[in-house]
Amino acid sequence: MKYNFSLFFFLLVCFSLITINNTQKTIDYRKGNYFVNVLLSDCEVGKDVEAHSFDLRSENGFLLSDGTPESKVFYNKSNKITISVKDNFIYINDKKYLKNKARISPKDGDINFGQYFYQGDFVFVLDHKKLYLMNKINLEDYVFAVLCSESWPNWPLEVNKVFAIAIRTYVTKRAQDAKKANRIYHIKNDNSHQTYRGYKLPNRNYDLLRTAVSKTDDLILTYNGDIIDPLYDCCCGGIIPADIEGKINFKKAPYLARKYSCPYCKKCKSYSWEVAYDVKDLEELLDIKNILSISVTKKDKAGLVKEVQVKVSGKRNKHSNIIKLTGDKLHKYLKRIKSFCYSIKKQGKKFVISGKGHGHHIGICQWGAREMVRQNFDFKQILTFYYPGSKLSLFPRE
Ligand SMILES: [Zn+2]
Repeated sequence: MKYNFSLFFFLLVCFSLITINNTQKTIDYRKGNYFVNVLLSDCEVGKDVEAHSFDLRSENGFLLSDGTPESKVFYNKSNKITISVKDNFIYINDKKYLKNKARISPKDGDINFGQYFYQGDFVFVLDHKKLYLMNKINLEDYVFAVLCSESWPNWPLEVNKVFAIAIRTYVTKRAQDAKKANRIYHIKNDNSHQTYRGYKLPNRNYDLLRTAVSKTDDLILTYNGDIIDPLYDCCCGGIIPADIEGKINFKKAPYLARKYSCPYCKKCKSYSWEVAYDVKDLEELLDIKNILSISVTKKDKAGLVKEVQVKVSGKRNKHSNIIKLTGDKLHKYLKRIKSFCYSIKKQGKKFVISGKGHGHHIGICQWGAREMVRQNFDFKQILTFYYPGSKLSLFPRE
């Protein structure tokens, strides 16, 4: 075991120390186990940047190391630890830490960060003027935790098996991207990737979700031997993905170019929806004054809005009183629009937007998959329906 003077000195000053033998660590990093580095937070660092801090809590204290296999591990019995960053240095409980990586594990149990509880370790890495806070967690525990966030309470086992495979495949694909791009984390914790809010969420059937993970243990989806990018969303609204233009490169991802519609989500609430905006609210949200009308002027073959024109009273510029927006931009500004397939009409002092589906219309339609289970399809048939040409394969463990 290599002697680490700076870490030892730092910890000697700040804690009453108990050195723990490496074999007592909470996570088993042996070959064959696979761990996911989930980005929970990051912040800029540097001379002109404000200090940031992160509070971690764990009932029976923490084990600290620098994350290298030869590192000594120290026990801090306090149930709270504060990691901060200032002037390009990491501080642990206000004491300067001289390395750029710190691994913090719970002595036992879990770590509470913000409002959520996490299994696994927390890893802080200072790299290129940024501090990354990651949760290093066993792959199957991660799949379970994301299932707690992304699934729906009280849905049956079979549909959760579908989601577990999609979640496992998605993170494997992102980890593959991370390796290619030399990215420090594998995946983000928000819905730009997969929503991950720890593993203790209320009103979840933990046993059923754990079973969905264990019954699909190691299964991922591939297409011609490559791991697929298994997009999934709430409700497709009956849109045919192959007709969607400009969002997905279907040559790279032919398994997302489903040529037939999903008829299974028709009874779901989000299949068709309507929201209304007061003209005043709309003007504020779009930062456009004196709106007379808004109309959808271009759609793609699938029916997704490509262009919207906003007509204003008086001339917006020298040439016209029309402002053009992309469909994506309107979707971004008006958060209550649930999908990219919609129409707009004016009713009195309101604009009423009616649409189909909830999400991006590509990949698994969650409500459709739920209905397919009701109609006795199994998880393999459902995955083949939503990702045509894909196959189930085993996770590539080294
Ligand atoms: Zn559907």
